[in-house]
Amino acid sequence: MDRLAKEKKQGNLSRRIIETKGIVQGVGFRPFIFQIAKRYSLHGWVLNTSGGVLIEVEGEEESLQAFLDDLTMQLPPLAKIDNISVVEAEATGYQDFRIRQSKSQPGEYVSISPDVGTCVDCQLELMDINNHRYGYAFINCTNCGPRFSIINDIPYDRQYTSMQPFQMCDTCAQEYQEPSDRRFHAQPNACAQCGPLLTFIAGEPLQVINGDAIKQTVHALREGKIVAVKGLGGFHLACAAANEAAVAQLRQRKHRYGKALAVMMRDLEQVVRYCELSATEEKLLVSPRRPIVILKQQQGVKLAPSVTQGLPTLGVMLPYTPLHFLLLASYQHPLVMTSGNISEEPLVSSNEEALEKLSGIADCFLMHNRDIINKIDDSVTRIIAGREAVIRRARGYAPEPMLLPEQLPEILSCGPEQKNTFCLTRDRHAFVSQHIGDLDNLPTLEYYERMIAFYKHIFRINPLIVAHDLHPAYLSTQYAQSIGNVQLIGVQHHHAHIVSCMLENGITGQVIGIACDGTGYGLDGNLWGGEFLLVDYRSFARLGHFKYVRMPGGEKAIKKPYRMAYGYLYSLFGKEASAFQKYIETIDAQERLLMEQQMDKQLNAPLTSSCARLFDAVSALINIARHVRYEGEAAIRLESIIDEHVSDYYNFDLQEHILDPAPILKGIYKDLLSNVAPSIIAAKFHNTLINALTMVCQEISSHTGVKKICLSGGVFQNAYLLQGLVKQLTKQGLEVFWQQKVPANDGGISLGQVMIAHYNTKL
Ligand code: ZN
Ligand code: ZN
Ligand code: FE
Repeated sequence: MDRLAKEKKQGNLSRRIIETKGIVQGVGFRPFIFQIAKRYSLHGWVLNTSGGVLIEVEGEEESLQAFLDDLTMQLPPLAKIDNISVVEAEATGYQDFRIRQSKSQPGEYVSISPDVGTCVDCQLELMDINNHRYGYAFINCTNCGPRFSIINDIPYDRQYTSMQPFQMCDTCAQEYQEPSDRRFHAQPNACAQCGPLLTFIAGEPLQVINGDAIKQTVHALREGKIVAVKGLGGFHLACAAANEAAVAQLRQRKHRYGKALAVMMRDLEQVVRYCELSATEEKLLVSPRRPIVILKQQQGVKLAPSVTQGLPTLGVMLPYTPLHFLLLASYQHPLVMTSGNISEEPLVSSNEEALEKLSGIADCFLMHNRDIINKIDDSVTRIIAGREAVIRRARGYAPEPMLLPEQLPEILSCGPEQKNTFCLTRDRHAFVSQHIGDLDNLPTLEYYERMIAFYKHIFRINPLIVAHDLHPAYLSTQYAQSIGNVQLIGVQHHHAHIVSCMLENGITGQVIGIACDGTGYGLDGNLWGGEFLLVDYRSFARLGHFKYVRMPGGEKAIKKPYRMAYGYLYSLFGKEASAFQKYIETIDAQERLLMEQQMDKQLNAPLTSSCARLFDAVSALINIARHVRYEGEAAIRLESIIDEHVSDYYNFDLQEHILDPAPILKGIYKDLLSNVAPSIIAAKFHNTLINALTMVCQEISSHTGVKKICLSGGVFQNAYLLQGLVKQLTKQGLEVFWQQKVPANDGGISLGQVMIAHYNTKL
């Protein structure tokens, strides 16, 4: 290069100081930066801080621009930039490009990557007999593997994970140090020489059985045994999904008689043999998040009847750890893989706990010696109205933050009682916790408190504002009240549901909120759950609701929908309820009398406007679900029998935004007497609700001028109802929003609570 050209070039050299925040650690971000810097011959360095990733690059203007383009456009699959700042500076004369030592800044924080399903490269190596990790159950790289479940502190370095006790062998260490390697700074990097190993435990008394642990597990499964398998976020209980005796025994030993059991299938080819699969469902199944996806079963499926107990849907997931890949490659057939816990307690995650708590359920154990630090359940999703809807948000999703429309102070929201999650905020981030469970037993409460402490620590959040549900008996409310030295803000349950929906859809201002839900504590002390609201972040107005009826026996009416049905008939028709003779005769006369007394004297017969309870009542009335084993079962069964060709509907009564279902129940009973098929009645009932709710929205919209509608509450997990309503409302020129990223059920409450608390504390 001649002197003139060289001078010209140096004159063009410039520097950029780049700061990125988001999911930028533990996802191959620094090697990616290293590679694009090399690509454009740029010099400088990249550095992990406890607040994100800091980069300095210098070179020619054109190359810097190309670097920045690649940086934002070609991110590694798991990385996500929430915030990037670029400052121009003069060149300082760096001679090469380096990855510098991590630096931690007090009080700073980074997002932590959720756990990631085994990537395709690792899958290939796992099955490649010539690879030195062939058959190794803990293979991973910067693009995949455990993250959140093995972390106990930040920055995300091996010493702060449960890989800390394992010393890397030379081969692994070399990969770890080589910037061009796929395992560069892959913190859980390991191989059979240096990393965690499997053990198989069986027999009486239980003992370690030597030999190939996978082979022995497969042998046990073939014999119809139940195996406790240590996974990523906790133990699963596994058995052959085609073996009725095994599945029935699993249910019996686990005392799990209601909910369907999830199934793990070998690959997509196997999935389509058992289930219908759309392109969107397929994409979700194979995504690195690897959730359970609720699919429609093919006609004539040959899994054991006890897996779904007659439901036409099936929760399916693909293998997501190398251990699962090995297991399914060897076993070949679908496996029931249900949470390894007892009744409603949190997942079992340590080996000792598994041997103690699961030995009454499992015949044998497939374990390993890498500790699970943060237990986390499988996530559950379903494609509704063409889009992914998360029903249980846990592994693969949490603790990825939701981006808020504005900056918030540090707030803790304690969430609801059932399907609890909590949420912590900082800057524009809302860290919604993984699914915690129902806060009705001590182990779940302990898990809840431990996780709150962990999130506070790891995200460096010290909340002085604490939001809670208005229900005084919720353990989450009582937890909030026990904290002390914080400002407490009570948030109405359905206000939180609707604001949760607004936030994930990025909506500010005012919306019409339709909350169709189980039950939530209302401002008047009644149990709300079918609410027509005008909502903003600060407050709401209750413009209407489903007509109040009594729940004879309170909780008892939830477990016994036939009581709820009578609650409706007696509340709405009084003595005229006798017109429903044929139904009434199905109830024990004495129990009926008792219910009437409860309702007359208003003793343990609370008023409710819950939409879910109407579903219960209708299910019982047409004999689809007179008893249920879990809340929501009656509605799920009712939805599952819908004849989709039916467009007919029932009359309803809507006055002053109060929806009176009396004409609907009359219509259903009339159909029942004329032997109309339950599948037709179910369809007509759903269609009626779609029409009624559309009319509610139209009326409120024309009075208020508000055109945005937010739909939330557990009832909107009903795909038929949601799809139909979205279609109708859109047709009317209204803008409809619903929940996808956080659950429409109470799992989404904590997100709404934080923003409402913020708007009620700021001046
Ligand atoms: Zn990988
Ligand atoms: Zn090694
Ligand atoms: Fe709710």
